[in-house]
Amino acid sequence: MQDRLGREIDYIRISITDRCNLRCGYCMPECGVPSVSHDMILRFDEIVRLVKIFCSLGIKNVKITGGEPLVRKGAVGLIKDIKAIDGIEKVSLTTNGILLSEKLDVMAEAGIGSINISLDTLDRQKYMELTGLDGLDIVLKVIDECRAYPEIKVKINAVTLADYNRDEICALADFAADMGVTLRFIEMMPLGLGTGFGGYNQDEIMTVLEEAYGPAKTINEEVGSGPAKYYSFEGLEGRIGFISPMSHKFCRSCNRIRLTSEGLLRPCLGSDVGIDLRMPMREGASDEELASLICEGITDKPAGHRFETTDSLMSKIGG
Ligand code: SAM
Ligand code: SF4
Repeated sequence: MQDRLGREIDYIRISITDRCNLRCGYCMPECGVPSVSHDMILRFDEIVRLVKIFCSLGIKNVKITGGEPLVRKGAVGLIKDIKAIDGIEKVSLTTNGILLSEKLDVMAEAGIGSINISLDTLDRQKYMELTGLDGLDIVLKVIDECRAYPEIKVKINAVTLADYNRDEICALADFAADMGVTLRFIEMMPLGLGTGFGGYNQDEIMTVLEEAYGPAKTINEEVGSGPAKYYSFEGLEGRIGFISPMSHKFCRSCNRIRLTSEGLLRPCLGSDVGIDLRMPMREGASDEELASLICEGITDKPAGHRFETTDSLMSKIGG
């Protein structure tokens, strides 16, 4: 369906938990997120019911995220159930990769279309300092293991953190090229703990990449279903993507909505607007009544992000 501004909304990111096994300094407080009681979190059958309703309103792509989605037991079963919904074309996952290895097989069987793995540095010490876990080798290993599953498209997402990984732009690009996966740089958004971190922008990265690999060529064919823009370089295998909500605002063509783990529909990541779906669902609302609430939310999707006034933690919104 379209919102008031004519944007076609066909993509939903669903956070299935606020919890995480890492403590990335720009995302998660050291003590973790405040614990919420179990029954405040949507059950999987409730998520599946909602996805069916979203799907009837035009949603075709579903991204499972968190927190860290793989810390929630049964996440792969949920992926399978969502993929089986008539009308859902693609289910994908965003993960830090720590728990991915043992689940790759079943994930492929469940029909996952793509997996985004977050990796901001290739330096073991820096990884440990940023995330609180000595886990770099685990992530590098699982990226390598993914190569045995050509049916799953793998992307590496690196957030641009000033004074942290600016000096690793080419190292990350070379690593992704070696692994045969796409690397995307995500501009740091001033959300939650992210406000305490400086970022750097697409143009700065582009300058570094063009110096190293030659002039960038825009890739016009559609690569993903989101806001990333992709480029190729003569001296580099594969392509590099940019998600640049700060320097190249893409709100005008935003096609996505979000569902938090507590059942709040968020039409825009950069706005505090949210519509509770959990309570009406548990009080017996029919599918039609829920669809009408969702339609209201989509219709009124804010025109653009207002990160400067948005308070929520990224891990709670679902990245
Ligand atoms: N735990 C999973 C992971 O790390 O991929 C999924 C959730 S995480 C919130 C999703 C993505 O959001 C990660 O790539 C993370 O680096 C990114 N992220 C978190 N805070 C951010 C911020 N303030 N600005 C930009 N990206 C951010
Ligand atoms: Fe966890 Fe992902 Fe946030 Fe890192 S970015 S703390 S892995 S939710």
